[in-house]
Amino acid sequence: MPEQYEVKRIQSYLIDAGIKGQKMTDFEFLPGSEKILKDGTRSQWKDWLANQKILSIKTKAKYTFIQLDQGTLVWHYRFTGIPHIRGFAYKERLYTIFNLPVLQSSKNYCRFRIYFENSKVLEYLDIRCLSDIKYFPHFQIHELDIFQKLAPDLTSFSPQSFTEWKKGVQPSKRDIKQELQDQFTTPSGIGNYLACEILAHAKLNPWLPLSTISSKQYAALCHGIVEVKKLCEKRTDYHWFIVFKRKNCVRCGKVVSRKKHRMSASSQTTHYCSNCQT
Ligand SMILES: [Zn+2]
Repeated sequence: MPEQYEVKRIQSYLIDAGIKGQKMTDFEFLPGSEKILKDGTRSQWKDWLANQKILSIKTKAKYTFIQLDQGTLVWHYRFTGIPHIRGFAYKERLYTIFNLPVLQSSKNYCRFRIYFENSKVLEYLDIRCLSDIKYFPHFQIHELDIFQKLAPDLTSFSPQSFTEWKKGVQPSKRDIKQELQDQFTTPSGIGNYLACEILAHAKLNPWLPLSTISSKQYAALCHGIVEVKKLCEKRTDYHWFIVFKRKNCVRCGKVVSRKKHRMSASSQTTHYCSNCQT
């Protein structure tokens, strides 16, 4: 979190809040900013960004790319970071299922401020300072390695034929959920909750080995992706979830199982219905 659609909502919020086309005039760094802006000192960041104009704001997968006059900023919010424009609330544009500070009242978590020539102020909030922001001088967005390597994302997804898809699958021991969460295979932008919901809509077991998928299961997977994509585009709330953070499966009523996806301690928890997802 945020995943593809939250990242897109933040992008449209920033554009609507009026910072596109504006020059950055001053900066204020608060405790914690050094963890997010790791690549340089405070004075280096000021030198890099001062008087640059924001030309465009784009997203791909879970990344935000901000094109400036002389380079590109790459923002990865990871789990707990979010930009706010002072006096302009997200309101019904964005909710959170975790502890993302979507309310401007969470000021204690402000890590840096950017002041613009039109008097707008961007306040970057991050509870745990896990965000990663990098600056690439002289690079246009499309020239960046990360932009090129990320697979086309969920917003542009259209199903391939089973034969075509099968050709592109690398021989591996990975399962279907790992494949969905891989940012370098199509579609990218999917994190834990979207993967859980896609598999619930597809009625597929999250541990299904990729190498054994039948054409029928592939069709179910594509259906799951398309359904979840539609729901994400239509709704900013999360009441449409079948299994994620649900006590019981919305479809059959059985208690939702929660299990670490792999043996490692850092592994995410997969939420699934053992009755519907076989
Ligand atoms: Zn069920």
